[in-house]
Amino acid sequence: MENKYIALTFDDGPNTVTTPQVLEMLKKHNVTGSFFLVGDNINEESARTARECFEYGCEICNHSRTHSAMPQQTSEEIKAEIEYTNNKIKQITGGVAPKFFRPPYIALCDSMYDDIPLTFICGNGAEDWLDEISAEERSKRIIKQAQNGMIILLHDMEGNFRTVQALDTIIPELKRQGYTFVTVSDLFAKCNVTPRKRVIYSNVLTD
Ligand SMILES: [Zn+2]
Repeated sequence: MENKYIALTFDDGPNTVTTPQVLEMLKKHNVTGSFFLVGDNINEESARTARECFEYGCEICNHSRTHSAMPQQTSEEIKAEIEYTNNKIKQITGGVAPKFFRPPYIALCDSMYDDIPLTFICGNGAEDWLDEISAEERSKRIIKQAQNGMIILLHDMEGNFRTVQALDTIIPELKRQGYTFVTVSDLFAKCNVTPRKRVIYSNVLTD
């Protein structure tokens, strides 16, 4: 069988409630994932949780400082957002700088590619920030969309227990279908793709 790779990603952390639950679920199923952190959510406590994710083998990525829509910001504001969160992440990882960035709300304008020297990531999700989307519906939507090279977009925002529950279905089912779960960096590496500039990736093999 052809090797198939897929990446779990989690936005809007870190926090001390749901981020540890996501990490426990990854450990339970012996897989890694990538966390896109919001700089303003990083404090002493939540940084400890993010460090546990990193030490387990997860990748830590940048999701801005304030989670604002960047097309409304100046170039200087955008650069400051990225720099702030990059520095916070380096404190968490012991100096490992993030390579990937996800724009808040996937709000994008062309000049952001000039201001942000990271690879842009989107992904396929399940509207998992809406309480009315059940855990079952979340897992159904993700499993239905799964493809080799795909980035799965979920959220570890505080209280999002339905996504934690959904992972307990998503991970074993996609494993059964032959997928290996990897970090975003490893997704590019395993698929033998060099990240390009001025592209936002939801699937590294087709974007
Ligand atoms: Zn977000």
